[in-house]
Amino acid sequence: MSIQDDFKPAPPADITEAEEFAALRKRVRALLAGHVTPERLNKFDEAEEYDVELYREIGAAGLIKLDGELHGHGPKHQAQAVVLEELGAGPTSVGVSMVVQYMGVQLLHSYGNEAQQEEFLAPLHRGEAKMSFALSEPDGGTDVARAMKTRATQLADGSWSVSGQKKWIGGAMDADYLILLARTSEISRAAIDGITMFLVPRSTPGIRTEVIDTMGIRGLAQCDVYLDDVRVPEANVLGERDRGFRQVLGTLNGERLNGAAVALGIARGAMETAVGWARQRHAFGRAVGSFQGLQHSLVDASVKIESARLLLRQAAEASDAGQGTNETWSAMAKLAASDAATTTTDIGMRTMAGWGFFRGLPMQRYFRDARLYTFAPLTDEMTRNYIGEKHLGLPRSF
Ligand SMILES: Cc1cc2nc3c(=O)[nH]c(=O)nc-3n(C[C@H](O)[C@H](O)[C@H](O)COP(=O)(O)OP(=O)(O)OC[C@H]3O[C@@H](n4cnc5c(N)ncnc54)[C@H](O)[C@@H]3O)c2cc1C
Repeated sequence: MSIQDDFKPAPPADITEAEEFAALRKRVRALLAGHVTPERLNKFDEAEEYDVELYREIGAAGLIKLDGELHGHGPKHQAQAVVLEELGAGPTSVGVSMVVQYMGVQLLHSYGNEAQQEEFLAPLHRGEAKMSFALSEPDGGTDVARAMKTRATQLADGSWSVSGQKKWIGGAMDADYLILLARTSEISRAAIDGITMFLVPRSTPGIRTEVIDTMGIRGLAQCDVYLDDVRVPEANVLGERDRGFRQVLGTLNGERLNGAAVALGIARGAMETAVGWARQRHAFGRAVGSFQGLQHSLVDASVKIESARLLLRQAAEASDAGQGTNETWSAMAKLAASDAATTTTDIGMRTMAGWGFFRGLPMQRYFRDARLYTFAPLTDEMTRNYIGEKHLGLPRSF
């Protein structure tokens, strides 16, 4: 038996939380235990394939529709954070795709009319359909409104013709539909005005997707989406014409929180793997986890993980309660979780040394995947800009 066959990560962290979230966490862990094995995770990462079967099971278990009926209320941010942390710690790429699905659900809840909710939201809730969110473009993701070259022009019959290119669109290859943002008006007072959201079936003529070869999140294809005179009926405008980007900004709080939850999961998964390794790997007649240099680094990383968890919980609670401070807490949680993920995966790689490099064990995957949340959905630098302005009351720094 080889060393990797022998290796078992430490058991998942026992997390203290309110009963309803503990029960939800248990349910998600049971679903994953029945479906996800280390071999399966490895297979999807190596093959750069999406685990669509797992996605369908998540939908069938009601985990996409976590907030009751349409327009319903409930502790959805806290519940989504639980699901996403568990996915982040295991099938991370599916977790990343779920951040996008929750965003789609939110946008459709908030801005979809009855017909759009019937056509697009209901199958999304059941996990029978999958959506991609197409905002970023080759010339810029951070200042995307100013960089946006994708144009939608209204034709005489009221329908729209959309042309342009979107970049880094997660899961676009096998999505059923896209929420697509395009510039619809040039005469805007601010660059963020004059942009509209469209609901577009991916099979619409004129849409071509190409997979981009990326270092991480390989279980969810990142795509170039080319749009050439894509015809979209007026009925598929989502929300208010020319105010689409503002409407998206309104959901960014949820995305920050959800990104933080996946990053926290990556950090926890990496920590469990590192601690399992540090206990069983020996050097000089002792477990390597007994060497103080390594042990203290693991301890420092675990403090970052628990600090991120507390900030995330506070932010999610404030968001569910509709408190005004929620957005700054969410931004802080996102920064703390991305830091916890990059720090823990770094010390995890050091702890495993040569075995960290081995593609048959998960540390290298956590290490690669952790990079995503340093820049998505918003870069850490822009997140700091936001906190500086909103929390510290300093002048806008850009
Ligand atoms: C795996 C993956 C999945 C993705 N999924 C999606 C998706 O599903 N849909 C989608 O639309 N997009 C997606 N993206 C794109 C992602 O949202 C962008 O990469 C991100 O917004 C950053 O944009 P950029 O890469 O163009 O960086 P740039 O905007 O070019 O930024 C470059 C650097 O400049 C810094 N910077 C810029 N402005 C400022 C400022 N004012 N102050 C301080 N620093 C600044 C940034 O922080 C960064 O460090 C994905 C990307 C990846 C790699």
